[in-house]
Amino acid sequence: AKDQGRNTFCVFEGGLDQARMREKIHWEDRIRSALREERLSLVFQPIVDLRSGQVHHYESLLRMLGDGGEEIRPAAFIAIAERFGMIRELDRWVVETAIATQGASRRVGRPVNLTINLSARHFGGADLLELIRDATLRHGADPAAIVFEVTETAAVENFTTAREFIHALRAAGYRFALDDFGAGFSSLHYLKNLTVDFVKIDGSFIRNILTDPTDRIFVKAIANLAAGLGIEAIAEFVEDEAVIALLLELGIPLGQGNYFGPPAPAFALAQAALPVPGTASA
Ligand code: C2E
Ligand code: MG
Ligand code: MG
Ligand code: MG
Repeated sequence: AKDQGRNTFCVFEGGLDQARMREKIHWEDRIRSALREERLSLVFQPIVDLRSGQVHHYESLLRMLGDGGEEIRPAAFIAIAERFGMIRELDRWVVETAIATQGASRRVGRPVNLTINLSARHFGGADLLELIRDATLRHGADPAAIVFEVTETAAVENFTTAREFIHALRAAGYRFALDDFGAGFSSLHYLKNLTVDFVKIDGSFIRNILTDPTDRIFVKAIANLAAGLGIEAIAEFVEDEAVIALLLELGIPLGQGNYFGPPAPAFALAQAALPVPGTASA
């Protein structure tokens, strides 16, 4: 299975047209050389307890440097990697690197909680679970400090696999978050049929929440739903202080966004234990 991506493109989905083939080879080359030349990195964005201002977790977010040193955001290459069969390699790199970071943080006595995004495509599977457990042991990481995030569109492709994978992860002590909640078509179905620890409310509900009463109604409903199910709700795209007060009023305990800080390189994690200034009660 290891070199699947390399050898199967000739027969890929019954043949690609020439332009698509060239694009695929171009991106395979870019992603493989980024992996080889260590031009991938993780940056970390705080997820904050809105009441206390303490960092609850850090979300690990993938960055790629181009040949010219320019930063390429995941929006530009994750979907392509999924389409062209390279996402497994990226996911494996992300899992290995994030778990190594958690393990290292424990060894220096400043343990951090991390979330790790897994691709929606090909979500689950025994090999990924094996890698997660193996990396956790090798790096001395703590499963209880690790949350896996997947967008709710993920499970569509193979709901049974997704459910079993989540079950196995949680049985091994990791936690699980449904990402971009509300943005897909099956939010409630997933919430009902998957056992999750966190829901991350899609930023599209938060972006205009101060002015849009409909957004407030949805966020309030999600807060009630989550609380009733014993799930913690996280709001994405918290960009200003007034939003924090409103989220607290609506019953959302956790938030993430540029207000608390953009994603930052790993060395910024050294400040993990420090409170974030400027939160509601600070
Ligand atoms: P996501 O998992 O929903 O991550 C949140 C995205 O929103 C991040 O973008 C983050 O930088 C951005 N963001 C957070 N707060 C704010 C804010 O207040 N304002 C604005 N304008 N943006 C904010 P990013 O890093 O570009 O990632 C985009 C998406 O790419 C992620 O959405 C996730 O679906 C995917 N992704 C990122 N890293 C990974 C990874 O390691 N593996 C996989 N499979 N997917 C990843
Ligand atoms: Mg995420
Ligand atoms: Mg999200
Ligand atoms: Mg997103």
